[in-house]
Amino acid sequence: MATINFDEYKNVWVFVEQRDGKLMNVALELLGEGRRLAKDIAEDTKVCAVLVGDKVEHLAKECFAYGADSVYLIEDPLLKNYTTDGYTKVITDAANQFKPDIFLYGATHIGRDLAPRVAARLNTGLTADCTHLDVSVAGYIKYAEENTTLNTKSLDPNSPDKGLKMTRPAFGGNLMATIVCPRTRPQMATVRPGVMQKMEPIEGATGEIVKVTPEIKASDIKVEILDIVKSAKELVSLTDANIICSAGRGLGDASGFELMQKFADKVGGVVGASRAAVDAGWIGHDHQVGQTGTTVKPTIYFACGISGAIQHLAGMQSSDCIVAINKDPDSPIMEIADYAIVGDLYKVIPEIIAEWDNAEALYDATTK
Ligand SMILES: Cc1cc2nc3c(=O)[nH]c(=O)nc-3n(C[C@H](O)[C@H](O)[C@H](O)COP(=O)(O)OP(=O)(O)OC[C@H]3O[C@@H](n4cnc5c(N)ncnc54)[C@H](O)[C@@H]3O)c2cc1C
Repeated sequence: MATINFDEYKNVWVFVEQRDGKLMNVALELLGEGRRLAKDIAEDTKVCAVLVGDKVEHLAKECFAYGADSVYLIEDPLLKNYTTDGYTKVITDAANQFKPDIFLYGATHIGRDLAPRVAARLNTGLTADCTHLDVSVAGYIKYAEENTTLNTKSLDPNSPDKGLKMTRPAFGGNLMATIVCPRTRPQMATVRPGVMQKMEPIEGATGEIVKVTPEIKASDIKVEILDIVKSAKELVSLTDANIICSAGRGLGDASGFELMQKFADKVGGVVGASRAAVDAGWIGHDHQVGQTGTTVKPTIYFACGISGAIQHLAGMQSSDCIVAINKDPDSPIMEIADYAIVGDLYKVIPEIIAEWDNAEALYDATTK
């Protein structure tokens, strides 16, 4: 393998996915995470947003507000809609030209399609579906010495003393694996939506816009988009929800979700579910929380009739406040819950709804 000059690779890049001229939430979360990583790497490390599309320059302002120092703007009418070929080509070309040290993508459908292609073309690695990122201050060499599975002799002597540690669930979520990319650049990762923290936006923040002229022609794109048909089904937005009322096998049957919907409507939340409830066909997969569902971080997460399997916890344990309702005081969810209510959900939830009604009536009476 050709020796890489690590000194040429600088800065943290974030692919800021946009759809219909709107930035995805995960892109803003990753800019915040990029800021945190850049601070730990070196003072002059920049956070750079990679913005691809057609007539999307107006989004640069939002990127700056959420933490980008620079925006690499790649615009062309051929890039108006996402295509694997088109985006892979222009992003690979830009990465070859500007050589980022770290390159992050949201683990969305598009990010999961794009990042492996770009990684393969750049001849580097990719850690998919990360739930945690960190910079190894101790450095690769020390890290490699501590980990006998890495061959320290093959490390380039020019290795920087800092590297990205990418953590993701492994072996069916039964353990967390931390992965490094010591021999190639960029260090690439996809990160699940809802895991990282957005920065508080800084209104009026500005930065540098680097306009990259893409070398792309229609024949580079093998797929022709004839029509875009949006799903008529209203998908739940678990990622953005402030309150989630989730239920699992403890519901007993599909009709239990009527109570859950009533509960969610009352507290202003959305309905989530465990995989057991989804696999039973009681509710759609777009409601599933967990390792193979959506990762969420609401202010309040109600887990009703959910035991707290590790794969479920992987998707909700960083919620600000967890309220568990379960008949079994020893179920694992009770250990991580901030409030553990032991009881039958069919008795407890109607009581919460009734209390909520009382509180609303009291509020109305005192504010009139
Ligand atoms: C590779 C892999 C990926 C997976 N991904 C996911 C994922 O993304 N999300 C996910 O959720 N799971 C996932 N799973 C499945 C996971 O391992 C568990 O099987 C699943 O989470 C269990 O769902 P549950 O808690 O609803 O059911 P159970 O484990 O059966 O728990 C039901 C709970 O309900 C309680 N209960 C019963 N009746 C009542 C009542 N009337 N009132 C109150 N409490 C009651 C019981 O005490 C029990 O604790 C995955 C598994 C694998 C192997």
